[in-house]
Amino acid sequence: MVRHKFLLDEEQMPTRWYNVIPDLPSPPPPPLHPGTHEPIGPEALAPLFPMALIEQEVTAERYVDIPEAVLDVYRLWRPSPLYRAHGLEKALGTPARIYYKYEGVSPAGSHKPNTAVPQAYYNAQAGVRRLTTETGAGQWGTALAFASALFGLECEVWQVGASYDQKPYRRTMIETFGGTVHRSPSELTAAGRAVLGERADHPGSLGIAISEAVEVAAQDPDTRYALGSVLNHVLLHQTVIGEEALLQLELAGETPDVVIGCTGGGSNFAGLAFPLLREKLAGRMSPVIRAVEPASCPSLTQGVYAYDFGDTAGMTPLMKMHTLGHDFVPDPIHAGGLRYHGMAPLLSHVYELGLLEAIAVPQSECFAAGVQFARTEGIVPAPEPTHALAGCVREALACKDSGEEKVIVTALCGHGHLDLAAYDAYLSGRMVDEAVSPERFASALAGVPALG
Ligand SMILES: *Cc1c(COP(=O)(O)O)cnc(C)c1O
Repeated sequence: MVRHKFLLDEEQMPTRWYNVIPDLPSPPPPPLHPGTHEPIGPEALAPLFPMALIEQEVTAERYVDIPEAVLDVYRLWRPSPLYRAHGLEKALGTPARIYYKYEGVSPAGSHKPNTAVPQAYYNAQAGVRRLTTETGAGQWGTALAFASALFGLECEVWQVGASYDQKPYRRTMIETFGGTVHRSPSELTAAGRAVLGERADHPGSLGIAISEAVEVAAQDPDTRYALGSVLNHVLLHQTVIGEEALLQLELAGETPDVVIGCTGGGSNFAGLAFPLLREKLAGRMSPVIRAVEPASCPSLTQGVYAYDFGDTAGMTPLMKMHTLGHDFVPDPIHAGGLRYHGMAPLLSHVYELGLLEAIAVPQSECFAAGVQFARTEGIVPAPEPTHALAGCVREALACKDSGEEKVIVTALCGHGHLDLAAYDAYLSGRMVDEAVSPERFASALAGVPALG
């Protein structure tokens, strides 16, 4: 009998999140105040986040206990399965063994509820009444609306205009969970009105939607803001993925040689990779860790490592990260979750330390891998993890050439059931790979603030 799934029982689910910072050779540079350029203290973030999350953002502890109420919600879909991709391996004719950790089993269909649930929980504990947020493809908005419903919070979502127009069913899903959705840029905020003043049919961007959600939260004492990626506490919450994967790889009797994931803001990939990086730094395994980003929004491979804003209007603290410039507006590619100008500061730091590799792949190669995966494994992947799959296919074919039996582990961070318009574009030959001109990169990079 060939085994397809490696499953854990509910009581084997990890009960703490892992913080990689104490295990790194140096800590990441601190966020800076946008005006003074001095490191910010926790109180600077208090208008936006509850204190429990701010503490997690800066914690030096290696492990953080997951609250019982959060574990109870996680158990609705966790532990998630680890699959061996026998069908894909056979189709590729590779001696490599490919494993994927499938996060599409969650209520939102992606890894996002892993952090939405604790974020809603800590906000509710702090007496917050309403959460605001941005969403790209709609995965994060869906996850936060779901989590808000469970903990009795209102949830207001600014959705990137291009995705709002392309993916109406995500909006319906957010509304089904009780959330409210606005097309971003909107007339509801000063940040939105400023952008619309320049271009009435603006397609929006994650940076703009963040500005709008932050602006509304900052003005109302009963409202806080929630971010679906990028920040340390978000990456922390996602480490349940990698902690489970380690137990499941042990069940499979495997030691990973290559870990591959897609990176938008970096959270699903860090969630899988950081616990494995801990094992690597402790000398217990030595996997290559490789991020895959879209060729049209390549912050790690084409960006600069510099202090920049997290949003377009420049309202957030300055964070040192790989960035294409906070006013870079990526082409409206189908992997909406990967259209962010920056990379998580913590993942950027790990990249600077040389503990992580990155490649950029054009979207048609990614969809080719996604379709091959669907036809061999039976799951239609979200457009974002097709990038990870394209990376796996490249690695598996290299193994075919070299004869190496590598163990490849990837995060299949979501399903694509609400992204079928993107598959339609690919299957009907309408998908194009638009190269970003060097001038466009240069003009966006010119907007990165120059610090003393
Ligand atoms: C949001 C999202 C991403 C991108 O965010 P990361 O923080 O890089 O994980 C990738 N895949 C899916 C399915 C998403 O919903």
